[in-house]
Amino acid sequence: MAGSNPSPSTQLNLPDLLAEADIKTLLMVLVTFDHDERILDECQPYITGAWDYMENIPSYLREKIITRLADLLSDINAGKRPRTATPTAELLEKMMSTFVGQPIPSEYIPLTTQQFSFPLIPEARGKHSGIASRATKSDFKVVIIGAGMSGICAAIKLKEADIPFIIFEKNDAVGGTWYENTYPGAGVDTPNHIYSFSFEPNHDWSEYFAKRDEIFKYFEAVSEKYGLYQSIRFGANVTDAVYDDEHASWKVTAEFSDGTREVVEANAVLFGVGLLNRPSVPNLQGLEKFEGPVLHTAQWDSSVKWKGKRVGMIGTGASGMQVGPTIAPEVEHLTIFQRSPHWVTYNPNYHRRVTPGKEWALKNIPYYADWYRFQLFWATADSLHASLHVDPTWPYLDRSLNETNEKMRQALIASVESQIGDDPELLAKVIPTYPPYGKRMLRDNHWYRTLKRENVSLVTERIAELQAGAVITSDSQKHDIEVLVLATGFSVGQVLGPINVHGAHGIDLRSIWGEDDPRAYLGITVPNFPNLFIMAGPNTSPAHGGSAIFNAECQVNYIVQALQILATGEYSAVDVRKDVHDAYNERVDAQNAKMVWTHQGVNSWYKNRHGRVFASIPWRMVDYWSWTRKFEPGEYNLR
Ligand code: NAP
Repeated sequence: MAGSNPSPSTQLNLPDLLAEADIKTLLMVLVTFDHDERILDECQPYITGAWDYMENIPSYLREKIITRLADLLSDINAGKRPRTATPTAELLEKMMSTFVGQPIPSEYIPLTTQQFSFPLIPEARGKHSGIASRATKSDFKVVIIGAGMSGICAAIKLKEADIPFIIFEKNDAVGGTWYENTYPGAGVDTPNHIYSFSFEPNHDWSEYFAKRDEIFKYFEAVSEKYGLYQSIRFGANVTDAVYDDEHASWKVTAEFSDGTREVVEANAVLFGVGLLNRPSVPNLQGLEKFEGPVLHTAQWDSSVKWKGKRVGMIGTGASGMQVGPTIAPEVEHLTIFQRSPHWVTYNPNYHRRVTPGKEWALKNIPYYADWYRFQLFWATADSLHASLHVDPTWPYLDRSLNETNEKMRQALIASVESQIGDDPELLAKVIPTYPPYGKRMLRDNHWYRTLKRENVSLVTERIAELQAGAVITSDSQKHDIEVLVLATGFSVGQVLGPINVHGAHGIDLRSIWGEDDPRAYLGITVPNFPNLFIMAGPNTSPAHGGSAIFNAECQVNYIVQALQILATGEYSAVDVRKDVHDAYNERVDAQNAKMVWTHQGVNSWYKNRHGRVFASIPWRMVDYWSWTRKFEPGEYNLR
């Protein structure tokens, strides 16, 4: 994590180290200190996009940046210059826009100063954080359910706000999805330097997109650093959360593996159970007759032997895209059963390791890590949002949404063609008919190269049934399989999992949400469920990009303010007003209707059985960030 000791290479001098770092980010650091707009203007024509590889800055300019920055850093190290600098708001905006190759609206300035620890503009400092320290009642308590990314984030911020809590965690470790998902090749496809808490950056990632073990260790280390372990009850499977109207409190029941139960009474309950948590096992005819091992990606059993065997894999989503190419070289044959193809994008950083020079820059150069994080934020998030709106006048609405989306489609097709264009039959199977981003955009994990392997076949006929040692497809073909991998995703409709949740007057949450129609205000609060807060709730899943951690931090910022109202004893119950909740959800649906996720040609885990998009967030990150900065008591019934 950020506090670890820098390890400058003894082999390299400063300019050599800088030459390994990202030149655009170095440019930002330079201008942060010397405020020289001319070099920004000189570089601007050569910067074509936000990612670090989206530039062709000529060598004479690179040398100029590196030489000047090396001098500047030497001065800083020698104590001749301060380590901090404060550009004006106007300069910061110009720098940000030059950095990512497109204008950054000024509305992003408050977000960036809060999230990225930039050289702070004095007037922006602290202005947008709703949290201030307040005295807490001594007997106040919150139950957090889940010690995954959301629960850890919440616990840290509750601790900072002096709000007592305990965490019930069903596993025997923290980390949630990063603990449970151990399938070969499991990793993140959001860049790690943004897929980490903004308040706990990690400069030690070995790859730009780290693998599961490293991410799991990060969450373990953060939990340790913030002293969370003493507040976690492991192996505690929460079965019920019931609101007590009289005492304005929640009774939360957990079951342990030895059959014992514990009931904790708390003033508030915070669900951090994760949307992508409960594996979805498809209802395939004859599944019980398949005699070999069946491995769901989210419940991988490492004792099962799959090497050298005939393996079948159902599903080609984010999990399948990672496990398939990882196991293919070591199995006798891999048969991939694809129901519908996904769009897949190529990113040169996906398999790259972080070089020593880059790691050195992250750890040692002032503001480098903050600028780099901002770059990733912009590259992966809101820059795409506008292109995912439907243009009703666009003539090809069946396959794309608008001109930009069509160009993206053509570029993605060209990328696939460059890899498997010599096999028209395979090409036809893998090009989706729906617009890019209709389903979650995947990263090319050598996917097409894998499909071309001699020991891999891609089957697109529907699965008719399973028999002992075989999958039978609708064309009556028998595919001999020894081990079956289910890369079939998660049951997401029940956002709070199988937990029985009863609110005011005993209302059962399932009677409101049904099987798969969850709604909440800002994805966080539900009318008649006072003092209940949800993380990763309905319509909060980032789908145009970004990091789920960013949204989690937004939610925690909001929830802590609500809890403070309760913890100070000002009120005993906060319950979102139904009119506020309903109006918000109408806006969600109206906005989603304009977005790619509701496209008729797409089925995805974002949609429920009636086609309503209940999982993905239709807003820009900056919108969600600003709406969750300040808890508005006027939107709640307070008792
Ligand atoms: P998913 O995206 O829901 O994909 C499930 C796959 O299984 C799809 O290809 C689906 O086909 C197929 N499938 C489901 N039921 C089937 C059936 N009865 N017959 C045939 N095929 C069936 O699940 P996932 O891949 O586990 O990913 C879920 C989410 O988890 C991702 O979108 C992402 O948010 C997260 N995730 C992230 C990473 C990462 O790299 N950070 C890695 C893994 C997961 P259809 O497409 O036709 O429905």
